[in-house]
Amino acid sequence: MYETIALNIRSADSIAVLTGAGVSTASGIPDFRSSEGLWSEDHSREYYMSSDYFYTNPEDFWKKYKAIFRMKLLKNYQPNSVHHFIRDLEQKDRSVSVITQNVDGLHSLAQSSNVLEYHGTLNRSTCPACGRSFLLDEIMRAPVPVCDDCGDILKPDVLLFGDLITGHEKAVEMIKQADVLLVMGTSLLVTPFNLLPYDAFQQEYTTSILINNEPTDKDHLFDYVIHEDLTEAVQKIQTYLNE
Ligand SMILES: [Zn+2]
Repeated sequence: MYETIALNIRSADSIAVLTGAGVSTASGIPDFRSSEGLWSEDHSREYYMSSDYFYTNPEDFWKKYKAIFRMKLLKNYQPNSVHHFIRDLEQKDRSVSVITQNVDGLHSLAQSSNVLEYHGTLNRSTCPACGRSFLLDEIMRAPVPVCDDCGDILKPDVLLFGDLITGHEKAVEMIKQADVLLVMGTSLLVTPFNLLPYDAFQQEYTTSILINNEPTDKDHLFDYVIHEDLTEAVQKIQTYLNE
């Protein structure tokens, strides 16, 4: 299985990688949605992490947002071997598009060159009035970050409940170009992200591969499925890629 996957990767001109929380586990980042993650501890978090709540009570929103996403710790997290594996798939004659559900920014930190942050990023916020972007240091400067120019309270670039997903069409385009679709560290439960692989299933030229630590209800749709710790799985595939 690992050797076959490696062969598919080696012969691919274009790879699309879909990633979820499992990719960041080895970096110490909690899965914000899983049964053991932060969302499930308190269902009201869906209410607080909504665009409605942001516009209703931005001061309290920011207090809760920074706590829920453990923003103070964000700078301590580093890419792990899975992020590096994905970056190293990029070669002179092979393009790699990463479409991630993760908001931690670690694919970019690992220097993957083509990253679509499908659910946004914790590393940026935007002024709703003038559209200016602010980075993490500026977001953390005050409990409630405001725009230097207009004084408006910033809105996170993380997708809030009630926000529109803006990257779906672009993600579909990335998948249409791919000879290999590699889905890693996600149970494909969150819609519409979990619909993205269907474009690949319909393309005869695309080989679909799923690597996740536990079964998903979409396993049967993939050409190859591995249930294993991601760190270990990529290490085995890498040995065949190096040959
Ligand atoms: Zn502004």
